[in-house]
Amino acid sequence: MMNVEKILAKLVSFPILGGESNMTILNWIKEYLESYKVEVNLVPNKNENKASLHCRIGPPKEGGVILSGHMDVVPVEGQKWTSNPFTLTDKGDGKLYGRGSADMKGFLACCLATLPEMVNADLKKPIYFAFSYDEEVGCLAAPDLTKALNNFYEETPKFAIIGEPSMMEPIIGQKAIYIMDTYVNGSAGHSSRIKQEVSAIHEAMRLILWLENKMNSLIEEGRVDKRFNPPHSSIHIGVINGGIAPNVIADKVHFSWDLRTIPRDDIFSIISEFEQYCEEREDQLRRIYPDFRIKNIENHPVVPHLDTSENDEILSLIKKISGNSSWDTVSFAAEAGHFANQGFNTAICGPGDIAQAHRGDEFISKDQLNRGVGMIQNLIKEFS
Ligand SMILES: [Zn+2]
Repeated sequence: MMNVEKILAKLVSFPILGGESNMTILNWIKEYLESYKVEVNLVPNKNENKASLHCRIGPPKEGGVILSGHMDVVPVEGQKWTSNPFTLTDKGDGKLYGRGSADMKGFLACCLATLPEMVNADLKKPIYFAFSYDEEVGCLAAPDLTKALNNFYEETPKFAIIGEPSMMEPIIGQKAIYIMDTYVNGSAGHSSRIKQEVSAIHEAMRLILWLENKMNSLIEEGRVDKRFNPPHSSIHIGVINGGIAPNVIADKVHFSWDLRTIPRDDIFSIISEFEQYCEEREDQLRRIYPDFRIKNIENHPVVPHLDTSENDEILSLIKKISGNSSWDTVSFAAEAGHFANQGFNTAICGPGDIAQAHRGDEFISKDQLNRGVGMIQNLIKEFS
């Protein structure tokens, strides 16, 4: 039997980044599960070089809990590491260092370390594992994985716990997130001809102001949700390029922006309103320059929001098994929204601190790791 630290060390040793083939870590986990006679099901991508996995431990009954996490991690380039990021390192300070130790191989290790107890317990309700790939590049595997959990089994799981690092505090809300690239194509020319040509910079500026005004008008209409910080939907332009000289009209501009909406704002209607405005501008400016074009390209698909209520049963279950009576919301993206979209009563709760995620010398404290194990052991007791 492998303890949680040994399993975590093994998982950290697979340097699989978001976007890369995950077959090596997948096969190791699959073989581990199969060594306990668990039947493992894969949900591959189109090219069959990546796959999520899911399995069920316990009886084929309605209800039960899905424990979920992602197998991929973010890159280490340009970060300051004082030990090899892909070798789990115990420096004797109560922390275990390594890429993914907190986000979120720590939780996967907790699931796998408690598997022997799970298979030996007389579970009255099932526990499912659902492990994904490509979470770090836009939660790309979650839509297919969550659908598979609904369709593969005759019985339907009720709850989902996503073990993102939350210091074992239940997280019941998350904003929806969308990232867009906007390309504006105008006409080049001498700056004195600004009224005869179409400046891509001038037009891009108008689009950016439209986005900022949209955010402000939502706030002014009182569309706020105090559970979140900030309590309103936000729109932010983070990259812009274009132009070559003050006396040359710019024919090309590109800008990238993100939109993070609270549950009561509809992310898709904001996007389509913006696209409609782009079309209006195109119609107008093609009278001056017939090839004027605005192209919006999705940088990655919408990650849906999570809007679990304080009164939902998942929260009381997690409070009971985690020993944590508070709850919170977060502003980072996770797969929880995809699970909620498929009808599972969902919350985030996992060991480690999100503040350690995505940085040099990422670590998880041994205390947190043991609490993660404790939560799943309590779940096993709860279901036995
Ligand atoms: Zn994560």
